[in-house]
Amino acid sequence: MMSPVPMHPVEIGALAPKGDMRPAFRFAPSPNGYLHIGHAYSALRNFDQARRTGGRFLLRLEDIDVERCRLEYEQAIYEDLAWLGLTWDEPVLRQSEHFPVYAKAAEYLQARGLLYPCFCSRQDISRATAVQRDWPRDPDGGPLYPGTCRHLSEDESAHRLASGQPAALRIHMAQAVSRLAHPLTWREYGEGEVVRDVLAEPLLWGDCILARKDIATSYHIAVVVDDARQGISDIVRGKDLFDATSVHRLLQELLELPVPRYHHHDLLRDAAGQKLSKSTRAKSLRALRQEGVSAQDVRRRLGFN
Ligand code: GLU
Repeated sequence: MMSPVPMHPVEIGALAPKGDMRPAFRFAPSPNGYLHIGHAYSALRNFDQARRTGGRFLLRLEDIDVERCRLEYEQAIYEDLAWLGLTWDEPVLRQSEHFPVYAKAAEYLQARGLLYPCFCSRQDISRATAVQRDWPRDPDGGPLYPGTCRHLSEDESAHRLASGQPAALRIHMAQAVSRLAHPLTWREYGEGEVVRDVLAEPLLWGDCILARKDIATSYHIAVVVDDARQGISDIVRGKDLFDATSVHRLLQELLELPVPRYHHHDLLRDAAGQKLSKSTRAKSLRALRQEGVSAQDVRRRLGFN
């Protein structure tokens, strides 16, 4: 007998003030390093638009990766944002305090037969995909999952789970997409009021992971669940997340969540044209501060007054 489909897991707008119709913006950094000027740009864009539209500006800490996130970085985020003159309108949402709700969202998809357990290690995947020189890759450059565990029988999966083998949950992407009644799009707001409809292409990601072995959730699940719970109307973030929006649109559809407006802004680059990131050792805001750069200088440099 099929187990009953769980109740809808996400209470839309549940964390927003009741009846509040104002637009809502969010800055959602991961406390796994110090903020750099690229983060400052994103935070200021959101804050500025919230203030100009009479909207709410929220701070969400995307700290599901409990191994890499640290309280020291979280503290630094508060200090850096205060230094920049930013304040947020509601208590900070720390994702690490909400694992059960993300698990419910995954269960909901699983009960619809859209997720399957995957026991593969990174090495298993490299080995399986090395057989072909030009193995297809996802928009982030990772090899598309070769589908190994999609072909396991239910008995085999159940046996491995029962014996304690750790498993991630992957989405059966082709199946998920085939259930859609219409093509998925989103409204992308460009610079200078240009608006266009973008066709979401979740198939580009293959059977991506929606619940990791170590933390039982993923960025994709947590972000769409919280955007809905916080009633976020406008997502303003860097172009590095443009392609991920295809997965987010699919999840919003499958979880029956509202679709926010999106704006993906250009990424700041260093003098050599490299995109700024923690991994390229972009100078942190605190390092700039220690060098005597003022918050006003940073704001001016980024085009905010
Ligand atoms: N936590 C993500 C990051 O720091 C941002 C997520 C988002 O804006 O959707 O890159």
